[in-house]
Amino acid sequence: MLRGKTALVTGSTSGIGLGIAQALAQAGANVMLNGFGDHEGPVEQVRQAGAAHGVRVGFHGADMSQPAQIADLLQATTSTLGGCDILVNNAGIQHVSPVEDFPAERWDAIIAINLSSAFHTTRLALPGMKARGWGRIINLASVHGLVASANKSAYVAAKHGLVGLTKAVALENATSGVTVNAICPGWVLTPLVQKQVDARAVADGVDGAEAQRRLLAEKQPSLQFTTPEQLGALAVFLCSDAAANVQGQAWSLDGGWTAQ
Ligand code: NAD
Repeated sequence: MLRGKTALVTGSTSGIGLGIAQALAQAGANVMLNGFGDHEGPVEQVRQAGAAHGVRVGFHGADMSQPAQIADLLQATTSTLGGCDILVNNAGIQHVSPVEDFPAERWDAIIAINLSSAFHTTRLALPGMKARGWGRIINLASVHGLVASANKSAYVAAKHGLVGLTKAVALENATSGVTVNAICPGWVLTPLVQKQVDARAVADGVDGAEAQRRLLAEKQPSLQFTTPEQLGALAVFLCSDAAANVQGQAWSLDGGWTAQ
């Protein structure tokens, strides 16, 4: 279905980004990976996911808080894989603290990585998408793009901003063949959330399984984590012809979190 297309997935060495990269490769897209930590394992996993289509997989270690490195990432995607047809803005970090204790440096980093990076990738990828008359921009927002939780001021501000950016860019490009949408997951058990599970276990004096249960029970009525595989399947759907008229949406996959 996506044979001949190239996807750039930011923050794809782990968690949700890696799951989406695998799903896009399985659907036939060539994929440029990005992120910190080991990248050889993820590159191999994505190559295997797309083996039936002979997909090509690249890696670029741009720090998504640095606009010059983001420009280099987009350049490399075009020079090594032929362009960027599908842009998944997924890189993100979290910091949990009351606003009056929130380190200013963490605020700046969260806004840069979770929000401003998507502005930079979008402005750089759009001209090629419009010239080809087809493109998909998928922004990994969060339930926190729609509702708030205490002690996550920077994250909530960035994710609400990302949903706003999604809507504005969707309207600007509504007749261009490019769709722009956000995905809003609830809890997904990735390294980003494992840190919060561990903190909860320590705070409540319980084991990891009980800390997971308590986190889910507080917010996610299904009592199930959303999975990277489910998010990958939604991303593939948003890239399909069936989703060509899905524009400017913030699509929840949150076990009922935002229905409350
Ligand atoms: P994760 O920590 O497993 O993965 C984050 C990825 O981003 C990693 O590949 C990491 O190397 C990369 N990254 C971090 N800082 C970077 C930087 N400066 N430059 C480049 N890459 C960087 O996290 P995850 O849970 O998979 O989160 C992925 C996205 O999904 C984030 O935007 C997050 O806010 C969002 N999200 C996560 C959840 C959840 O419950 N896990 C829920 C809603 C939304």
